[in-house]
Formats: sequence, C-alpha cells, structure tokens
Amino acid sequence: MAKEKIKCSFCGRDKSETLLLIAGIDGHICDACVEQAMEIVREEIGEKHKSEFKEIPDITPKQIKEFLDGYVIGQEEAKKHIAVAVYNHFKRLKHVSASDIEIDKSNIILVGETGTGKTLLAKTIARFLNVPFTIVDATVFTEAGYVGEDVESMLSRLLQACDYDVKAAERGIVYIDEIDKIARKNDNPSITRDVSGEGVQQAMLKILEGAEVNVPPQGGRKHPEQKMVKVNTKNILFIAGGAFSGIDKIIESRMNASQIGYKHDAKEKINKENILEHITHQDLKKFGLIPELIGRLPVLTYLDRLDEDALVKILTEPKNALVKQYTELFAMEGIKLVFKEDSYRYIAKKSIEFKLGARGLRTILETILTDAMYELPSKKNVKELVVDLAYAKSKVESSKLVKFKAA
Ligand code: ADP
Repeated sequence: MAKEKIKCSFCGRDKSETLLLIAGIDGHICDACVEQAMEIVREEIGEKHKSEFKEIPDITPKQIKEFLDGYVIGQEEAKKHIAVAVYNHFKRLKHVSASDIEIDKSNIILVGETGTGKTLLAKTIARFLNVPFTIVDATVFTEAGYVGEDVESMLSRLLQACDYDVKAAERGIVYIDEIDKIARKNDNPSITRDVSGEGVQQAMLKILEGAEVNVPPQGGRKHPEQKMVKVNTKNILFIAGGAFSGIDKIIESRMNASQIGYKHDAKEKINKENILEHITHQDLKKFGLIPELIGRLPVLTYLDRLDEDALVKILTEPKNALVKQYTELFAMEGIKLVFKEDSYRYIAKKSIEFKLGARGLRTILETILTDAMYELPSKKNVKELVVDLAYAKSKVESSKLVKFKAA
C-alpha cells in the first residue's frame, strides 16, 4: 500500500511546501497556519479587552470614591477629583468611534506634603480598576542623550508590571513621583539647556499626551541591542505627584496681590493652614513647571496635612490598617493584642513630633511591639498583650527613636 502523504490538516499544503509541519494527535499544522492562528488569537484577546471596557459604565464616581474611602483616610477633595477624572477617563475610552469629538485625557497632578497619601491614592485606584500600575521617580530621568534614564523607561516599568502584555499596559496607570523636582529653577524660560529639569519636562510631553512610543523593554540604555516595543500611550492614565515645597508662599503672594484694593479683613480670610486648597495651575508655572506640561495634567488637586485625628484613623480604620495587621500577626501566635485609645493618641503625637507623617506610624508601632514579638513566641502561657499609654511610652523612650530626635 502506498504511504499516505503528510499534509497540513488546516490548509492542505503538502509537507514539501512548508517550512515546518507540526504533528498533533490525528493531524498536522504548518508554520503558516500557526502564524495565522496566532494573529486570530491576538485579535480575539484584543476584542475581549475592549469588551471589558464596555462593562465599565456601571461604576459611578461615587462608587470610585467609596472604594478609595476604604483605604485612604481624609483627602476628600483629592478623592473626588480622582474619582471624576477616572470616570471621565473610562467614558473617553468607551467613546471611541462614537463621534469625531476627541475628549482630552484627564491626567492628574497631586500636590501635598510627603506622606499624606499621594502614592497610596494612585496605588488604590489602580487596584480598583485592576489595571497594570507602576511608580516612577521623576528625578531619575534626564533628557535623551545624557547620563540617566530616558523618560520612555517609565513605560518599560509598566510593561514589566504586566509581563509585557502590551494591550494591558496601554490602559495602565503610571504614577510619576517627585514631579516637583524637575521644575526649572526660575520662572523664566531658560536660555541655557537644563538637562535634568526643563529638558525632562519637554521629553515627557509626548508620552503624557498620547503617542506611539518606542520603548526599550528592559528599560535604561544598558541594552542598546534590545528590540523596541511600540506602546501607545493614548489611554494610559498618568498621575503625577509632588510636595512642591515652598509653593505655599507662591499661592499666598498671588492671593495677597489679587486682594490689593480690598478691605483689610478680606486678607484675613486666607487660611494659612490649608493654603494648598487655593492652588492653581498658575502657581505650578511659577514654581517651574512648563505650561505645556501643566496643560497635559489638567486635573489639579491637593492633599491635606495629616493632623493627630487623621493619624489615629490611619492607624485603625483602613481595610489594611497597621493595627489590624499587627493584631493579625499576634493572633497567629494565639495572642490577643489590645490597644488602649490613649496609646493611639500617643503614637500619632510622636509621629507628628518626629516629623515622620503617616510613614512614621509603622516605625513607632514596630518600636513598641518588637520586644513582644521577640519574646512572646517562646512564652506559651501569655495569651494577651495590652498596649496602653504607659507601655507605649516606655518602649518609645528607651528606643533609638528618641536619640534620633535629639540628634
Ligand atoms: P506620599 O506619596 O504622599 O509621600 P504615601 O502615599 O507613600 O505618601 O504614604 C506613605 C504611607 O503612609 C502609606 O503607605 C500609608 O500607609 C500611609 N498613609 C499616608 N496617607 C494616608 C491616608 N490619607 N490614609 C491612609 N494611610 C495613609
């Protein structure tokens, strides 16, 4: 009996007409059909991503804010602005092809002291949206051609965060920290080149606005031979944040200037504690951000300074509050950890005193609980640890923290 000729079971090509014929259980597939099938898979998965966007209309800005409330204490204004910006961002995505009107991106800029929750807000929103997220530090970037990282590397990080799934990255969120550190040094356009400040701002423009960008998948310039990946930034949401130290003076002087001619008591109304609530794009320009960059970060909002009450809430209320985390850690040892209210107040006060903001809460809690965490696992008869003011005080006062403050 003549030997049956092997053919591709999909296109019928003879083995001799193919580069490669892969055998299956009862059939074969040629290289050309594999490639074609791959194309179909890509398109189908792409379609699926699009349909995920179509499911989004049910989320209202209020629901987005409620989710943020679960993790971020206070910062009502910032949450509201972010909720609306994200909501509009999704409307924009769904809008595609519905009409010729292009809705601008709602990239966000957050102004607030360090440790007030800027990064936390960005992280939480990414968690809510279930999209790739990355944090980059603006200070590592330099203008192309200089020592440092090119701004494109922020997209490399985003790609890494989602295992190089370009489609997923193209709807991710990038948080650019310390945007204030790339301000130019004065309000006048520079005559000489400013490699680390204005040059970087210029380089960011294209990426923030939305463009096809060639991204080195490994980031940096260490691998010049690497093949670039094309990423379209049109639907990537950028959130920039910075402390903008000294901007309060700019706001104040602008407000005072605009009040010349008014009665004296109008001046009194400027609330210096919360001066940031009056911030405008004009103040950012004065600080040293170029107008083109400001224009690409249209949603401007601020974060409040955290007072003692806010810090106590941060300790106890968020879904993954520090106190809840430590209680869980102790429970795993069979020990009930009980905090007295006065110890919370003490921890919050110390955090303010040491100028550590919300970041300090963890350091102080760790200081208070380290001895217990070291000793109790070997003392099987202890079933409860009560942390009251006296206990907290004794641990903090005998710690390095006090020396740190004295230094
Ligand atoms: P920033 O980016 O403003 O410098 P972060 O968001 O990194 O500050 O805050 C540092 C840490 O402090 C967070 O991980 C979080 O645990 C805590 N924190 C800061 N602000 C808040 C807040 N408003 N609500 C809850 N936790 C906060």
